[in-house]
Amino acid sequence: MIALGPRQEDERRPYVGESLVEPAALFMQEIGLGDYLNSTQMTKHGLSSNHKIKPGDPLDRRYSVHAPHRLYHTAWQLNRPKVDGALRARAEELGARLVTGRMHDCEIGTAATGHQAHARGGERDVTFSCRWLIDTTGRTRRIGKKVTTCTRPQARQRSCFWFRLADFEPFLPHIAMSMRRLLAYDLWETTHHFLGHGYWIWGIPLATECHQRLVSIGITFRSDIFPHPCAASKTFSTKNIRRWRRWSAPAKCSTHQRVSRVPLLG
Ligand SMILES: Cc1cc2nc3c(=O)[nH]c(=O)nc-3n(C[C@H](O)[C@H](O)[C@H](O)COP(=O)(O)OP(=O)(O)OC[C@H]3O[C@@H](n4cnc5c(N)ncnc54)[C@H](O)[C@@H]3O)c2cc1C
Repeated sequence: MIALGPRQEDERRPYVGESLVEPAALFMQEIGLGDYLNSTQMTKHGLSSNHKIKPGDPLDRRYSVHAPHRLYHTAWQLNRPKVDGALRARAEELGARLVTGRMHDCEIGTAATGHQAHARGGERDVTFSCRWLIDTTGRTRRIGKKVTTCTRPQARQRSCFWFRLADFEPFLPHIAMSMRRLLAYDLWETTHHFLGHGYWIWGIPLATECHQRLVSIGITFRSDIFPHPCAASKTFSTKNIRRWRRWSAPAKCSTHQRVSRVPLLG
């Protein structure tokens, strides 16, 4: 098996995907990374969903909270750069050949002829012939775009923002939770989802060597419904961090935004 792509240190994309879903966690165990993940990464106890009791009132902090009482599988919240490195090393141990380069074109053949991938790595162009060609280029969909048609929306779409906050104070003690049953695990160790009319916010507790209390926050919204239009990340952070600071202790900014208490939107 050949895995073609940039070296980890040359990756130009932001890391997204910091919280393993259960099938991916089982797959990681299957390929022998269970002990590594157990000893280095934070446990993830599934998903919890929070619905506002009084939608539309940002100051009302009462939520109806939903999560399974008991979990059959746990997963992990990932320190992605570290885990990506460990995963690459494990893939090599298992016999994969990691080739540095980018695919610039491909020819999709049939089961009888196989396929071809044309790659550029450094000064050299290389062509690989293969029986299976798997598109793992993510949102680029290098092969996907070749084999399907895609209609781009006419207006530029910008309705999702994500960022990390350092030295984050867990918000659970600051909201009033209504739950049908007690949980057999620590609710903070879940991925927290806040759902309302036209928006979805997620919060993933993370930890790195530098920041033990890190949280990754993502906000996605229907721009035709959500009443606070925002088209650029700069406007978004200026508007909202200012709004949060009104309610929180003075905040300093570094590579991660530092905010001590973040009231939730919506
Ligand atoms: C903000 C955000 C948060 C998310 N959080 C989660 C989460 O917590 N949990 C979860 O399960 N999912 C999450 N997702 C979804 C998840 O991140 C994606 O489904 C996942 O990253 C897709 O992985 P991938 O390997 O297919 O693509 P990517 O992670 O995008 O990786 C694509 C790779 O292909 C390489 N590449 C691109 N073009 C070429 C080329 N021409 N030749 C060679 N290599 C190329 C890139 O350099 C990159 O290494 C999130 C998505 C977003 C946007």
